[in-house]
Amino acid sequence: MTDGERQEGKPLSGRFKKTVFLNDETGTRMYLQRTLKTVVTTKGAGLHTGARVALTLRPAPVDTGIVFHRTDLPGSAPLPALAHQVGDTRLSTLLRAGDVSVSTVEHLMSALAGLGIDNLHVEVAGPEIPIMDGSAGPFIFLLQSAGIEEQTAPKKFYKVMEPVEVSDGDKWARFTPYDGFRLDFTIDFTHPAFAQKNRRVVLDFGEDAYIKDIARARTFGFMQDVETMRSMGLALGGSLHNAVVLDEVSVLNSGGLRYDNEPAKHKVLDAIGDLYLLGHPVIGQYTAYKSGHALNNALARALIEREEAREIVSFRAEEDVPSAFQCWRLRHA
Ligand SMILES: [Zn+2]
Repeated sequence: MTDGERQEGKPLSGRFKKTVFLNDETGTRMYLQRTLKTVVTTKGAGLHTGARVALTLRPAPVDTGIVFHRTDLPGSAPLPALAHQVGDTRLSTLLRAGDVSVSTVEHLMSALAGLGIDNLHVEVAGPEIPIMDGSAGPFIFLLQSAGIEEQTAPKKFYKVMEPVEVSDGDKWARFTPYDGFRLDFTIDFTHPAFAQKNRRVVLDFGEDAYIKDIARARTFGFMQDVETMRSMGLALGGSLHNAVVLDEVSVLNSGGLRYDNEPAKHKVLDAIGDLYLLGHPVIGQYTAYKSGHALNNALARALIEREEAREIVSFRAEEDVPSAFQCWRLRHA
């Protein structure tokens, strides 16, 4: 069950097209780390700079984790996608190492969490990840186009053993033990375009549920805030093509909303991305009220610091993995 036992898996070649690790004692398949099959590239504009940049995703060896690289700054330090690398959370989640940074990583991180990608090099030719359509949908499409490959080491999970909570005024976020991954998020958002019942989202994680119910939820903002941000030189790439924009009474996007509760679902999408900065999928429940990038990061750091409240686990048989993550079993021909 613990990650020190990785060496027990032995590759059996010949029986399957690719290497499959079997557990010595039980003969069952181990639950393995995942990366992409091929390199994929896309281009898109950054939300804040408006600059169009290339984004390339490259397969990475086992235990690499997700690592960002600024290809416009040759030789610059790599930026591991880990909670303690987060340097700014005011507008998005930004990773920093020294004077190198990359911002708006949360929607791509959310897509990687949704598809259970453990190891990947993310190369971006500018200071922020392209906003695409403001959701994780285009990243899901990109990752699925590349294909997903199992690797030769057990997948690790961050298991919540005891409750951990952080708060800031009336906002709070909490982890509690749970045999799966459940998110229960409430926004405090009174607006004529949204009914009271659309303020809360509860998601029992599974890849299908994530792709169908969460991944397409776009970021959102108010017209008056957009105008203020533009006057500060921010949100230069923001438009009705990559955000739900509201005025005081209505949704300004001509196509309307993708879900009745799209803003609450986007907050869940953001939380899934922010929590993936733990470095592994979470086995536990996340409950939050009015949380955002700052509090999500504080919660991830609090869980890391409270050693008795968490454990890093892996599974010696696929069948032992909580059903929430069984979606990541690949079919073996
Ligand atoms: Zn977001």
